[in-house]
Amino acid sequence: MKRAMCEHLSRELRNLERRVRVPIELSLDDERYLDRACPNPECGAAFKVLFDDWRDKVPDNRAYCPICGFMAQASEWNTPEQQEQIKNAALRYLHNRLDEALTRGARAFNRSQPRGGLIRMSLSYRPGRLPLVVTAEASEVMTQRSTCEACGSQYSSIGAAFFCPACGHNSAASAFHANVETVCKTLTAIPEIRRAVTEKLGKDGAEDSVRQICENCLVKLVSAFQHFAEALYEALPSQAKPKARRNVFQNLSESSELWRCAIGHGYDDMLSASELSALERFFQQRHLLVHNDGIVDQLYLDRSGNLSYSAGQRLVIRGDRVEVLADLVTRLATQLRRYTPQP
Ligand SMILES: [Zn+2]
Ligand SMILES: [Zn+2]
Repeated sequence: MKRAMCEHLSRELRNLERRVRVPIELSLDDERYLDRACPNPECGAAFKVLFDDWRDKVPDNRAYCPICGFMAQASEWNTPEQQEQIKNAALRYLHNRLDEALTRGARAFNRSQPRGGLIRMSLSYRPGRLPLVVTAEASEVMTQRSTCEACGSQYSSIGAAFFCPACGHNSAASAFHANVETVCKTLTAIPEIRRAVTEKLGKDGAEDSVRQICENCLVKLVSAFQHFAEALYEALPSQAKPKARRNVFQNLSESSELWRCAIGHGYDDMLSASELSALERFFQQRHLLVHNDGIVDQLYLDRSGNLSYSAGQRLVIRGDRVEVLADLVTRLATQLRRYTPQP
């Protein structure tokens, strides 16, 4: 009897050494969207894709991040929660298989978990940060829904999205105004968000959420403009323009010169000197938020000329300032469109 059991067990173990497929049910939201997370360590964006599109339109060997355009195998896009879910399911599977081998019995498990009144969501530009807590209505306002012009896949994200997760199509040029609009709607909803979250979490929790939302709006606007400029530039006839290095549109003065060579106009023809330096400051702030957790460093002070801070302080991003940024990038984008053929 003992010997038979051992044989059964070792057969199970041999089976497990081969690749096994463990059926796992990942949860979808009410509209059947699947949570995804960008595996690019620089990005980590959270977004959602209509589950049917993810299953049918995303090939196994590649999927794209709608925010940074990073490409990776379709299996690489699980959120930390899903990774945990998958690990647990795999362990459970392993456990059950061995358990069966020993006792020929199966064990049931619990996997549902109750949900609270507030929604936790991940903001998409700083991986590993605490999730933002807002109400369901607020998360609806902050969500940008997109349908790919090229392949019809449906996806959504908090704030701006630029690339189709299924085919990689860059929609930054056509989606720019929708992106800015989502950010502006979010800013308008801040008093309401503050009120609702204060009720549930108290004043500190609410201020925390509002701060994260304002920072996220700033980052989204700057990247929406960068990707817009990139897409517009890409669409220019190639004989008419110098080659653009990667991420050149993160640098205002360098990209302004690029436009001047290509279309005869730089940013200083489109905005006043004081508007341009305000924009430069916003670009530097985005850099700090994304790469330095918002902590002011000497480089920021040198580049932005922002003397109201000293090194080591944390940036304070106010909603009304972000509205100024929305206005600046919208005007710059409108001007750029005037000088370029429509992509
Ligand atoms: Zn990404
Ligand atoms: Zn597509």
